[in-house]
Amino acid sequence: MGTSGADIVIAGGGIMGWSAAWWLARMRGDGRGIVVVEPDPTHARSSTALSAASIRQQFTTEVNIRISRFGIDFIRNIAEWVGEEHSPPGGLSLQENGYLLLATRPEGADVLRAAAALQNGLGADTRLLSPAEITARFPWLDLGDVALASLGARDEGWFDNMGLLAAFRSGAKAAGVVERRDRVTGFEGRRGRGVSRARLASGAALSGGHFINAAGARAAELLRSLDEEIPVEPRKRTVFTIDAPNARAFAGTAPLIVCPSGFWLRPEGEHWLCATVPEDDGPCTADDFTPDHGQFEALIWPRLYRRAPCFDAVKVIGVWAGHYAWNRLDQNAILGPHPHWPNLHLMNGFSGHGLQQAPAVGRGIAEMILSGGWQSLDLSDLSVERVLERRPFCECHVI
Ligand SMILES: Cc1cc2nc3c(=O)[nH]c(=O)nc-3n(C[C@H](O)[C@H](O)[C@H](O)COP(=O)(O)OP(=O)(O)OC[C@H]3O[C@@H](n4cnc5c(N)ncnc54)[C@H](O)[C@@H]3O)c2cc1C
Repeated sequence: MGTSGADIVIAGGGIMGWSAAWWLARMRGDGRGIVVVEPDPTHARSSTALSAASIRQQFTTEVNIRISRFGIDFIRNIAEWVGEEHSPPGGLSLQENGYLLLATRPEGADVLRAAAALQNGLGADTRLLSPAEITARFPWLDLGDVALASLGARDEGWFDNMGLLAAFRSGAKAAGVVERRDRVTGFEGRRGRGVSRARLASGAALSGGHFINAAGARAAELLRSLDEEIPVEPRKRTVFTIDAPNARAFAGTAPLIVCPSGFWLRPEGEHWLCATVPEDDGPCTADDFTPDHGQFEALIWPRLYRRAPCFDAVKVIGVWAGHYAWNRLDQNAILGPHPHWPNLHLMNGFSGHGLQQAPAVGRGIAEMILSGGWQSLDLSDLSVERVLERRPFCECHVI
């Protein structure tokens, strides 16, 4: 099979690949010449499809807060951005119940206070709540050990993840972007000069002017074809859907609760989603999507019951496992051109908070490719350079 040409080749058609494609097409006024290579158009194993589909303003770094400020505008006004014809009818079903972050230690409370000041200075509406104030809002929580909490009063909640993906994809394809069902097996080129071709599993190859690595939890694998390393690995997260008859009444107004004992919980209709970080957290193989069924009973339920006794009777009604693209250095995104391969752009390492970042990150990568610099939002804190130089840029609120 031969080599065909494209202006821009995007490896990976999850939320990042399609966001970049949509923004590139919009900014150029034409999507022709942009190819998204994706082996599985069902997205069955993509992190995008397997995520908890939530957005928050409660980050601890300015750049992540600014990314979420734009993300919520995009999600709320999806039809205005992509056009009615590409938006799900009625929008992305944003359920704006907020995130409630609990702190049980004085150090944790200090982090919440500093973060709230930063967030509110950038336009968020984060409220610091004493245990009495939390009880007034959520009387079903047991707060005996809680020192302070922060609640996003607006611009936080959950939404239709696949609707956002479909909107980017539909808009990009209508503008002429080509979706190619294949897998990139590696890149070729000259270090210092740039990538010239992407090899495909079908035996074909795609030459191009620019290349984007949007391969999610498999991003590091692709870079190894150029003898490059980034500290990104798949980490398995098992999510449980539970029914708790005595908690049903609270699901309508409950926020996404992040408990320092090590789990998160949010309503899903009249049911709930919850997950924890496994005790032996580490890399998994890229094909391991087997849920860790035992986590609910061993790790989540005892802590959940202590925090909310109305979860005394619980039935697990669903379970799935997905992969975080875990950035071992600092749990933050790795964005922009690779210093050794100037026309290869990374959108990697989102460490569990990438879905909400896709609108701003796709825009940034498109601006970088088309203009040579960050424009609307300076994303340089998240550069590839800091990772290669091992200068961590840490996000404290990783869930
Ligand atoms: C359990 C869980 C909960 C989460 N909750 C949230 C949340 O509430 N909010 C939030 O913002 N984020 C959340 N995330 C993180 C979020 O889902 C990801 O950060 C985001 O979806 C990453 O998008 P992506 O396009 O980089 O990766 P993916 O969606 O994984 O897409 C990558 C695509 O690349 C393709 N691919 C892989 N290798 C190749 C190759 N060699 N060639 C071509 N294509 C390739 C894959 O098939 C895949 O479709 C969660 C993740 C998980 C697992």
